[in-house]
Amino acid sequence: MDKKDLEHFEKRLLEEREKLLRDMEQHEASSRNTQRDASGDLSAYSYHMADLGTDAMEREKAFHFASRDTRLLYHIDQALEKVRRGEYGQCEECREDIAKGRLDVVPHARLCSKCKEKEERSK
Ligand SMILES: [Zn+2]
Repeated sequence: MDKKDLEHFEKRLLEEREKLLRDMEQHEASSRNTQRDASGDLSAYSYHMADLGTDAMEREKAFHFASRDTRLLYHIDQALEKVRRGEYGQCEECREDIAKGRLDVVPHARLCSKCKEKEERSK
């Protein structure tokens, strides 16, 4: 991978990172709103019994998003670290180069498609 490629993928990673952080902020804001609603007006409690299930589900969904996003953010940061160390684009398993086509789709990929397949099969 030459310098131009590295710059290209570093830019992609930074873009992904920014987008992800924006998404996370949005999820956080929406989960805050849900919590305020749930602890809201007590006199309206009985009317809202049916809604409570939905609130819990929304909160769970927000939590889900958060942990998935956190993991993704971690992988993106790891990939950026690898760009700086000059190891970007190398499979962590077999040390072969990861196909650029794959990195274009998943810029934070840790494994080449062969090792990824193996990992998925072993699950
Ligand atoms: Zn590999």
